[in-house]
Amino acid sequence: MERSLVRHPGPVRQAISLFRDRFGSAPVLCASAPGRVNLIGEHTDYNGGPVLPFAIDRRTAVAGSEDEGWTVVSQVDGTVRAIDPSRPEPGSWTAYIGGVVRVLQARGLAPAGARLAVASSVPIGAGLSSSAALTVATARALVGLTGRRLPPAALADLAYRAEHDEVGVRCGRMDQIVSAQARPGHAMLIETASGAITHVPLHHAVWLFDTGIRHRLTDGQYNRRRQECEVALQRVREQGHRVDHLGEIAPNDLAPLVRAVPAPWGLRLRHVVSETARTREAAKALAGHDLGELGRLLVEGHESLRRDFESSCPEADHLVESAMRHGALGARLTGAGSGGAVVVLLPPDQAARLVTEIQEHFRQAFGGVPIAWATKASGGVRLRTSGRTRSS
Ligand code: ADP
Ligand code: MG
Repeated sequence: MERSLVRHPGPVRQAISLFRDRFGSAPVLCASAPGRVNLIGEHTDYNGGPVLPFAIDRRTAVAGSEDEGWTVVSQVDGTVRAIDPSRPEPGSWTAYIGGVVRVLQARGLAPAGARLAVASSVPIGAGLSSSAALTVATARALVGLTGRRLPPAALADLAYRAEHDEVGVRCGRMDQIVSAQARPGHAMLIETASGAITHVPLHHAVWLFDTGIRHRLTDGQYNRRRQECEVALQRVREQGHRVDHLGEIAPNDLAPLVRAVPAPWGLRLRHVVSETARTREAAKALAGHDLGELGRLLVEGHESLRRDFESSCPEADHLVESAMRHGALGARLTGAGSGGAVVVLLPPDQAARLVTEIQEHFRQAFGGVPIAWATKASGGVRLRTSGRTRSS
């Protein structure tokens, strides 16, 4: 069993060797789940609108064996920690593990205890959803230790409950759905109000430029923006519109509403409604292989984030502007905002040269060279046990 586990490259192999190193035996299984990037559809997921993310080819792996208690280690600091899942640990990364354990325990899906080792190639706090990769992989590993197998959609729900209800991040469901349910070579158009998912082919490499600016979802702006969207919805209803979500507002109703609802709520409203329309158009452009139109929509989306949602940052604005000036097809800040990564569509035959030029331009403005890498659309959660890989 061990030999077949070790054949896997990257984070899976690292999680397994971390497990062996710290716990002195081989793990029984190793689950891995990807981070994600959202092509477009930002801050629409908690407003009943669509999102268009895909799973990146960077993953978080959780190697595990059953045990009497709960002991965890992450490659992030290498320290073995005993945890008590009945006691939430706010502020620690182990809060995510404890959250998953409690959610599984409440449904009779958890083992009695476990040793877990975590390794990841997903940058943390870069808007690429290392948190969902961690909770989805943990849920899959723990359910696997009980000998059960759940549909990917059920894993997504458990991971969402862990992060939202237990860790207390007011996230939407997108990150966990992608990390659990993505198909290789496809983006996912997720209509968050209905839950409908359409897998849209995406065969091009997409570039990510890391601004180097990190956010912390647990402290601040994200929750504030959500509250502002709730106030905006209230104001829209006061104007006589019977809607459950901002995403339901028809584009034709937008202009008078923006005039009637004062800033900042009117601006947040304008972003959500225009982004809802853009995201559906972007899915059509992608399905029709119209990368030029897709790129145009990404840039429009970034401008909306910058001007109306006020969730961009100077480094991201610079990267988008610079990418477009250097010949990109489109570019946009992705993720919750205030830092993180910028997604860039580059003409494949010129990508290497353009990346260097964009990096150099950024260095002149901010002093550091932004890390950039290309990713293709990858698959969701996988489980590796004795000699077999399962796609869920
Ligand atoms: P993002 O999901 O955009 O990367 P979040 O703030 O939502 O950013 O989640 C990051 C948090 O998730 C980290 O601060 C840490 O607590 C936890 N985390 C993610 N990946 C790992 C990992 N490999 N090891 C330990 N903790 C991790
Ligand atoms: Mg996250």
